[in-house]
Amino acid sequence: MSLGLTGVTLTYPDGATRLTALDDVTLEVPAGTVTAVVGPSGSGKSSLLAVAATLITPDAGTVTIDGTPTTGMSRAELGELRRHRIGIVFQQPNLLPSLTAAEQLQVMARINGRRPRGARERAMELLDAVGLAGQAGRRPHQLSGGQRQRVSIARALMNDPTVLLVDEPTSALDHERGAAVVDLLTHLTHRRATATVLVTHDRAHLTAVDRIAEVDDGRLHLPAPTG
Ligand code: ADP
Ligand code: MG
Repeated sequence: MSLGLTGVTLTYPDGATRLTALDDVTLEVPAGTVTAVVGPSGSGKSSLLAVAATLITPDAGTVTIDGTPTTGMSRAELGELRRHRIGIVFQQPNLLPSLTAAEQLQVMARINGRRPRGARERAMELLDAVGLAGQAGRRPHQLSGGQRQRVSIARALMNDPTVLLVDEPTSALDHERGAAVVDLLTHLTHRRATATVLVTHDRAHLTAVDRIAEVDDGRLHLPAPTG
């Protein structure tokens, strides 16, 4: 139960040459831990998450999910892997305007072919876990920004992922609510044993995470091991 990136290099076309977004990145995230990745805008944070999510295939290197290297998997196999093993929380919650909080979660189970009945129970349990038990029937416009981000976190956990990937979840929130979202993510990671990568350009909220790595111009710098 972990996430591994080994020697990952990713380039994008850039005129006549190529821009190196990730430069030989190696990262191992054990189950039940949060690695925060901090770095300025344009340093490669979202690219790192996209590769970890298997949404982009890197030029070189390997992504390993649950001990299984994803190199060489077909598109269908990767889709299956993402649906079952990977939860993603984007910068913007991307909720469907017409659905209630509970329904946003239940849609995920339907995509996965699970039975609707169990899905309802699981949705309610997860909304409770993110502090929104009383808001299950509300639609996005009836929720605050912080509450919408919590729905999106609960949604990402709906299929019990191995890997949880979170991109700047606090960027639209004030400090207090941002800190609460990071604390919640850390708590859920420890409880549900996900291998979590939390990307942010803002260190202020990162009091509770297990480890802080820095990314600078596509290069990842891990902290020296302690203890
Ligand atoms: P961050 O999330 O840290 O802001 P990104 O991973 O989005 O950084 O971007 C890293 C670098 O790659 C930046 O220079 C960005 O302009 C470039 N980049 C990101 N996505 C693309 C793309 N789809 N095509 C070309 N260049 C891209
Ligand atoms: Mg980004």
